[in-house]
Amino acid sequence: MPTMTAARLHAFGEPMRLDEIPIPEPRPTDVLVEVKACGVVPNLVRVVTNFFGTMGTDPKLMPPLPAIFGLDPAGVITKVGEQVRSVQPGDRVYVNPARTCGSCKMCRSGQPLDCAVFSFQGYFGRSQAIMKAYPYGGLCQYITAPQEALVKLPANVSFEAAARFGYFGTAYSAMKKLGVGPGRSILINGISGTLGLNAAMLALAMGATTILGTGRNRSLLDRVKALSPGRIEVFASSDADASSVPGGDPLVAWAKSMTDGYGVDSMLDCLPPGAPASAMIRAMHALRRGGLASNVGAVMENLTLNAFWLMTNRVGLQGSVWFTTGEGEEMAAMAAAGTLDVSALQHRIYPLSQVNEALASMESRDGGFTNFVIDPSRVA
Ligand SMILES: [Zn+2]
Repeated sequence: MPTMTAARLHAFGEPMRLDEIPIPEPRPTDVLVEVKACGVVPNLVRVVTNFFGTMGTDPKLMPPLPAIFGLDPAGVITKVGEQVRSVQPGDRVYVNPARTCGSCKMCRSGQPLDCAVFSFQGYFGRSQAIMKAYPYGGLCQYITAPQEALVKLPANVSFEAAARFGYFGTAYSAMKKLGVGPGRSILINGISGTLGLNAAMLALAMGATTILGTGRNRSLLDRVKALSPGRIEVFASSDADASSVPGGDPLVAWAKSMTDGYGVDSMLDCLPPGAPASAMIRAMHALRRGGLASNVGAVMENLTLNAFWLMTNRVGLQGSVWFTTGEGEEMAAMAAAGTLDVSALQHRIYPLSQVNEALASMESRDGGFTNFVIDPSRVA
């Protein structure tokens, strides 16, 4: 039986170990993908060290051990099941890790992201059965995936860039809900982080004409503005504390000054874990009347929203998680056409044997510009 190398977690809090395990056979509607790049998200460090367990999170949300993590795999199809129709061996693909039941009311209605047992292949999820059916995350050499999970990659989209599609797609799906487009303004709260930078790149691709961003690190903010100096404006939120200014929040005043006094059409919250709810509320107040906010960041505190303010200003707030495979196809097409410019990403590629070193090094990064990637085709 042919085998492959997989980085597996045997116990939470321990390093991953390289194991030799059988290469899986694809089921009739599945494909087998040889992984060439797998994105590593900073949150994976929290997951494998059982951060969520210490918060009292239901352990059933975690995949059974030993587990193969790896949320954002891209590679080449090497084998297809007998009922796979429209892809073939040799095709370059990104595997959308969003796994669903496929047969509940929401799945049958074409709204898979609203499936009650939505689970991430290679991460965590709401169904142990689904995680057992697709136990191969991208931190191994070959993975099985359903045919409907595949985003075909044009030749000029690198595997490393595709390994960032989880972040891109998370921002993209939310920004579509916000109506981001030509002639519209958006405030990206936390624009220099991994999610926020990808949101800025997408806002440029989607035609947004006024792209405002907040952040704490002035030099990183300058680098974000340099992506498109005529369309991106940045605000260093450490420069001014909302509560200490008698005349009102300087962030809100700045956002209004950039939008003829109206406020922004939309706000995307991309703040990192640990950010206070007040930082998200501040950005919501930069919205114009009728503006829409979406949250894809990691604020975990309760929001103190004034319901009367929300109503009288006709403001909307929409949560958003992940993205559909169709939205992934749209991003691949934009990247191929060059309208989505991902060239500012700096790929930091590790062989599979250095997965633990990669996880340990994630604190030292240039905000969202650094793209951490594992290449499982290189074991050493
Ligand atoms: Zn379902």
